[in-house]
Amino acid sequence: MNYDVIVVGAGYAGSTAARVLAEKGNHVLILEKRSHIGGNAYDYIDENHVRRHEYGPHLFHTNSGKAVEFLSRFTEWYPYEHRVLGYIRGKLVPIPFNLTSIEKIFEKEKADHLKQVLIDTYGMEKKVPILELRENEDPTIKELAEFIFENVFKYYTMKQWGYTVEEIDPAVTGRVPVHISYDDRYFQDRFQQMPAEGFTPIFEKMLDHENIEVRLNVNVLDLVQVDPENNTITFEGKPFAGKLIYTGIVDELFGYCLGELPYRSLYFDVQTHTGVFQPVCTVNYPTPEEVHPYTRITEYRHMMASCDSDTTTIAVEYPYAYDKDAEKGNIPYYPVFTGDSEAAYQAYVKLAEKVDNLYLLGRLAEYRYYNMDAIVERAVTFAEEL
Ligand SMILES: Cc1cc2nc3c(=O)[nH]c(=O)nc-3n(C[C@H](O)[C@H](O)[C@H](O)COP(=O)(O)OP(=O)(O)OC[C@H]3O[C@@H](n4cnc5c(N)ncnc54)[C@H](O)[C@@H]3O)c2cc1C
Repeated sequence: MNYDVIVVGAGYAGSTAARVLAEKGNHVLILEKRSHIGGNAYDYIDENHVRRHEYGPHLFHTNSGKAVEFLSRFTEWYPYEHRVLGYIRGKLVPIPFNLTSIEKIFEKEKADHLKQVLIDTYGMEKKVPILELRENEDPTIKELAEFIFENVFKYYTMKQWGYTVEEIDPAVTGRVPVHISYDDRYFQDRFQQMPAEGFTPIFEKMLDHENIEVRLNVNVLDLVQVDPENNTITFEGKPFAGKLIYTGIVDELFGYCLGELPYRSLYFDVQTHTGVFQPVCTVNYPTPEEVHPYTRITEYRHMMASCDSDTTTIAVEYPYAYDKDAEKGNIPYYPVFTGDSEAAYQAYVKLAEKVDNLYLLGRLAEYRYYNMDAIVERAVTFAEEL
């Protein structure tokens, strides 16, 4: 077949773009290096009859009607509101930190006083960034703010990004809000729901189109060469005149010719336990690394519509610096934003721009964080414009 478009990667970015382009009459070939479609949203029913998310917990939440509308063509949904507890000073308290968290941590008289001062100062149902709380001159609020920063944000951020205390940028962590409310949901978005059969079937249906061919277990770099100096793309040794949509890491595409970009990786220690392991889907461990070297534990059964299995699957999440050759931490999960990394990425973008028919799309190729709804919306718009 003569392909109009080659898409690298069968995650949300690649699959959504492929579907939109296929419906407009383009013949699309998807090349995916993993043995499955779905990218990092890939899930399946495991040996404990639990729907496991192979690359970490994925919760669908959005205010974007466009993303919901597009995905609803391929799935039914069930309502799901995510709740997270944090292990703080030996207790499990709701995260984001809210009025119930205060009640759980402090003895009644002190808790009542703290809540009243917060409500009087900011008002009920407000979300106040921790930085703003820390800058408040009132000693009661300041003391509470320091407690929250120390016990909720500081060590979690250090573990998540591998930072020292000095490297934590207050402007970034400071944006995380404290909720002056009893609403203990992790997200407040308009749509909070999970796909009835899981995420992978969404991709199966999305890619089930006569104009789409999917090849798994293929590293695109073995089949496709991109030459910025001559503005050419070759596929299987022959010039390719169609469009190439690339959703992998851009430094790899160009053979790391301008150096490696930094990414943060994760390692999931997946365990089976009897019964139910913890009260909610996710428990965060915002404790120092010496106490808990992991950031959070996810128990997948809680995000299912129903689950009566006697055994349960949990994933203990350890952040790692990305190293493509390491045994653990060899999957690039998140771009690491520093002034240097942004400049290094932009140098790769300049190379990519020399190739007329090459398009960078998605979380890795665009070197930015997208949630599922955001990348679906972006990929639909991108493909429609293309
Ligand atoms: C731990 C974690 C938890 C998350 N939780 C949520 C959540 O709760 N809610 C939410 O909305 N979003 C969540 N996200 C974000 C979500 O995963 C992304 O929005 C989504 O995966 C982006 O899709 P993508 O197609 O850009 O990238 P990916 O899903 O990474 O897909 C890229 C695909 O390209 C393939 N590929 C790369 N290079 C090559 C190559 N050289 N050859 C062939 N194939 C290649 C990869 O194998 C992969 O399948 C989470 C992300 C992580 C990491």
